[in-house]
Amino acid sequence: MPAPHATVRPTDADYVDESAADLPTELLNVPWIDPHNHAHTLSWEDRERYALSGCRSMVMVSSGYHWTPYKPVEASDIRFLWDDAVNRRQAIERNHFFEAKLSLGVHTGVRIENLDELLAAMGDYCALDEVVAVGETGVTPSQHVERWDIDEQQAVVQAQMELAADHRLPVLLHTPNTSPEAKREYRDDLGVTPGYEKNAGLGTEPVLDGENPALEAVKRDVEAAHDAGLDEERVVASHADANNTAYLVEETDCYLSYTIGHSWLVGVDAADVANAIDEYGPERVMIDTDTANVLRTDPYAVKRAIFELYRYGIDVDDIRTVVYENPRDVFGLAE
Ligand SMILES: [Zn+2]
Repeated sequence: MPAPHATVRPTDADYVDESAADLPTELLNVPWIDPHNHAHTLSWEDRERYALSGCRSMVMVSSGYHWTPYKPVEASDIRFLWDDAVNRRQAIERNHFFEAKLSLGVHTGVRIENLDELLAAMGDYCALDEVVAVGETGVTPSQHVERWDIDEQQAVVQAQMELAADHRLPVLLHTPNTSPEAKREYRDDLGVTPGYEKNAGLGTEPVLDGENPALEAVKRDVEAAHDAGLDEERVVASHADANNTAYLVEETDCYLSYTIGHSWLVGVDAADVANAIDEYGPERVMIDTDTANVLRTDPYAVKRAIFELYRYGIDVDDIRTVVYENPRDVFGLAE
């Protein structure tokens, strides 16, 4: 029989054990870092959402072909993207209070003309204080518009890793996700995935076949790191998923960053992060949003995950390690 109550008749509250509500309120204020996004392509209001939800620091990545209007892509197109990010970075910090650093790179998702010009210029960018990483880059099984030979891709990745090693910078790796099985196919003639502006009809035939091209690509990236003399612990494999987690944890010293800002597209969310922490510990795990203006993405993804990880049984200390300490230490942020 419930205790006496002020309400007309007993409510749920009369039956609930109060000790169950012992929540770690420090999670409301735990600082967090987003080590991979394209926030400079978002709206001002989206960047403000990062600030309002406690983002301490972020790495804005400029390397993608999504934002160049011309195909084929030329070196000068990518150079413009780098310069645009360099130009706006400080104003973004001053508007929103969080630290905003840069990662610049050459993405192999589309073949780039006169590439040597770009690689030759890249060293000067790596020397900038605001550039804290090289990437995102990484061997890609199929390209947009025009194929890029797999060995040439690996050489481009390696060349960037050599620059990173020279400048003592970590590399942000773009690892290919294996998409979850669709419940149903869309009409062919639409040519786009709703929620993603990429023109899916312009995807090329893969340059990497075999049983598991997405994993094969990551193995080539790790080989490129070895050949470049870049330590594995300086490699952060973004878009970690069920297909590459065991390999990356068990056979390399790379960090794994789980991209959860577009879970609707790739199926990776806080549950995968919790599972990875349970199985392997939090020491080499991070979370990123990969927010960008070309697809439906969530600037609140890390903040939401902080609560979700706790609900999934992860300790507060381990959550802090994953959302703050690991990216802080690897990228030299929030100093
Ligand atoms: Zn990205």
